[in-house]
Amino acid sequence: MTYGIKRTHLASEITPELDGSQVTLLGWLHEKRDLGGLRFLVIRDRSGLVQAIAAKKEVSRELWDEISSFKRESVLAVKGIAKASPQAPGGAEVRIREVTLISPSEDPPIDVVGKTNADLDTRLDNRIVDLRRTEPQAIFRIQSTVSSAIRSYLRENGFIEIFTPKIIATATEGGASLFSVFYYDRIAYLSQSPQLYKEQLTSAFERVFEIAPAFRAEESDTQRHLSEITMVDAEAAFMDYQDIMSLLDGLVERVVKTVNKENQKELKVLGREEVEVKLPIPRITYDEAVSVLERKGVEHEKDADFGTVQLKALSEELSDFYFITDWPTAARPFYAKPLEGRPERCESFDLMYGWIELASGATRINDGKLLKERMSSQGLNPDSFKTHLKWFNYGMPPHAGFGLGLARLLMVLTGKDNIREVVMFPRDKRRLEP
Ligand code: ATP
Ligand code: MG
Repeated sequence: MTYGIKRTHLASEITPELDGSQVTLLGWLHEKRDLGGLRFLVIRDRSGLVQAIAAKKEVSRELWDEISSFKRESVLAVKGIAKASPQAPGGAEVRIREVTLISPSEDPPIDVVGKTNADLDTRLDNRIVDLRRTEPQAIFRIQSTVSSAIRSYLRENGFIEIFTPKIIATATEGGASLFSVFYYDRIAYLSQSPQLYKEQLTSAFERVFEIAPAFRAEESDTQRHLSEITMVDAEAAFMDYQDIMSLLDGLVERVVKTVNKENQKELKVLGREEVEVKLPIPRITYDEAVSVLERKGVEHEKDADFGTVQLKALSEELSDFYFITDWPTAARPFYAKPLEGRPERCESFDLMYGWIELASGATRINDGKLLKERMSSQGLNPDSFKTHLKWFNYGMPPHAGFGLGLARLLMVLTGKDNIREVVMFPRDKRRLEP
């Protein structure tokens, strides 16, 4: 399963023990240097970098000339002899015998080597080349660890992975922030969340999860909002919001531990300290959070969602991960279950890191009649939820779940302030390409 010229070793496999063996590398020309009678080609592949050296005395005249014509980012096959070399990074290098230009590159639009001076917009305009830099490489290798840790943790806890439609007929949570699309001869929408499907599916599979895109027509231009996001959604029958927070305790711990174990190299590239989680993650109620704000003299609107000012003030008291629970019912979606005996508060939570919201969750209403009432009181028309409400007549179990923004979690793990750094191809009001 390789290109015609067979690779014998990856860059990281060129070690002093190989001294004297013939090797063939396949990769990109990361950097080149000319030092009199020596020409250095730094080759990059998925494992890292290795230095290949052509000595004028050891190669043909044509090859010697050709080497200086290669441009950075060209794809090369380099055949040569491995040599132990204490000065070389990794303790070994390759003495070049033959080089094949597999695919030439023009001068790259941004610098791939070291820290680029290019601003984020320029980098995003040239994302495919930008992604070859060590920083984005580190970020997206961590992302791969995170998604696989989430999958294994949820599967171990009895959840099955589902895939629900992203083209939908009605809004999940009301019409705001929905994108519409032409769907044959009518209008359809892009899904903001798999909420209703995942709830329905608890009646068939009990425990389900999905890692998939969600679309939000966000009007606000912030460092933490995009129009297309990857959401981690989970929903479980016979659990309530406290159970879901415990599940998230374990999930966050698993993710953090796995990244700390598997991505030391990447964390170092990012200059990021290991994130720590102490379990259980503290849980504070909305009303307690309001008391904290009052004590600090921070104003806030009664029974409303917290804004940035309030969250920043709270995060001064509550560092790292914490939950805010028992939110005002009016400030949450219609499907959140009101607290027994105190209907103005509901069984809901946000998982926070500092002042950034990572996830929202709740016990859901599983009584169809109450659900209809809640829709009406939030200004939604129960008729447009007919297909959803129907399933509440056929054995809907009590259930609870959460939705977590993958990129928000990745911001925390990588220490990035702008969500655009941790999404390969971010979509916002201004950016629809590349
Ligand atoms: P926020 O208050 O931060 O705008 P939200 O409460 O509107 O988020 P939810 O509907 O609770 O978002 O979505 C669940 C999670 O998905 C959020 O906790 C967040 O991590 C992520 N998320 C939601 N909207 C966005 C967005 N526009 N860009 C990036 N992540 C988002
Ligand atoms: Mg939320």
